[in-house]
Amino acid sequence: MTAPAEGGAPAGAGPTDTDWAAAAAAVRGLSADARVLLICHVNPDGDALGSMLGFGLGLRRFGVRQLQATFPGPPGVPEPFRWLPGLDLLVPQDDAYPDPDLVICFDAASESRLGDLVDRLDKAGAALVLDHHASNTRFGGIHLVDPHAAATSVVAEGLLDRLGVPLDAEIATCLYVALSTDTGSFRFEATTPAVHEMAARLLATGIHPGDISRRIFDTRPFGAVRLFGEVLVRARLEPAAAAGRGLVWTYATQEDLARHDQPAYVLEALIDSVRCTAEADVSCVLKQVSPAEWAVSLRSKGAVDVSAVAVALGGGGHRFAAGFTGRGSVDEVVDRIRAELDGALLTG
Ligand code: 5GP
Ligand code: MN
Repeated sequence: MTAPAEGGAPAGAGPTDTDWAAAAAAVRGLSADARVLLICHVNPDGDALGSMLGFGLGLRRFGVRQLQATFPGPPGVPEPFRWLPGLDLLVPQDDAYPDPDLVICFDAASESRLGDLVDRLDKAGAALVLDHHASNTRFGGIHLVDPHAAATSVVAEGLLDRLGVPLDAEIATCLYVALSTDTGSFRFEATTPAVHEMAARLLATGIHPGDISRRIFDTRPFGAVRLFGEVLVRARLEPAAAAGRGLVWTYATQEDLARHDQPAYVLEALIDSVRCTAEADVSCVLKQVSPAEWAVSLRSKGAVDVSAVAVALGGGGHRFAAGFTGRGSVDEVVDRIRAELDGALLTG
């Protein structure tokens, strides 16, 4: 499903007091034997898993006994996250409650990000959406969508607080993984004083940021190191693209992964090695998911709204970090991106 550029609410508006009250009431109103299903987006990243598992652990402390967490697609959790507290909540999508009393979605801007689990939205007693994408389509019934939040975990912490669930080290570890992932280890523009205040609350539970960062950002199999080398060698720089702001792009095939015996998720870190290119505002990585299908990551340093590009091509995301599924050959997909870039230039 294609996401519209904006949902019904005014652009940039966060949850109202009424939204917070409705979300808290949906949890407080659960009966003792209620079944709650947590869902995060396909190919879950640190914010998707961290906000979902952190909130799930909080719900468990709150007293929810029948609780599952899941995401669409193959059930494997990427190796960097395989130590997170709360992994015992995870079930493969086929084992997820078919008709939960409450479904809660994390970090998904549109229904398409929920894959085959989208049917749970209709079958659930109520559907609560926690997210921070400006492109969120306002699917589901109760919305806690804050485009100003640096991560979905900011919204998750806000709801736990309103439910009176105190932070402990396990919850904090999950929320910290989410917060540090989506702020690029507190480097991106979204790193506001409120972000550091939240980080301080999380760290005060006694968690170890050095260990956490090393595990999720600075650990990679040797095969992935060599794979990155090959993929970076084929990167192209197009200084004239994006009205002269520049585009740098590369791609990785399933063959590349097989040759180095690597799982697909190792490619998630690749964009960080491409986007440092000084001569380009926009960076792009195409990751092959089937012969003519590519998961495309887009980043901008500030001159281009890449979420506009992604939305135009059927995806979504944030102004400076977005993505979509591209179909066809590498050249066809890059042609389509190039064509959208000039129209996505931010003025000023
Ligand atoms: P990444 O490049 O790290 O996969 O994603 C960057 C941002 O774009 C994330 O906020 C993610 O939610 C969004 N995004 C990535 N791929 C897609 C997609 O296929 N559809 C939509 N709607 N959003 C995407
Ligand atoms: Mn996020």
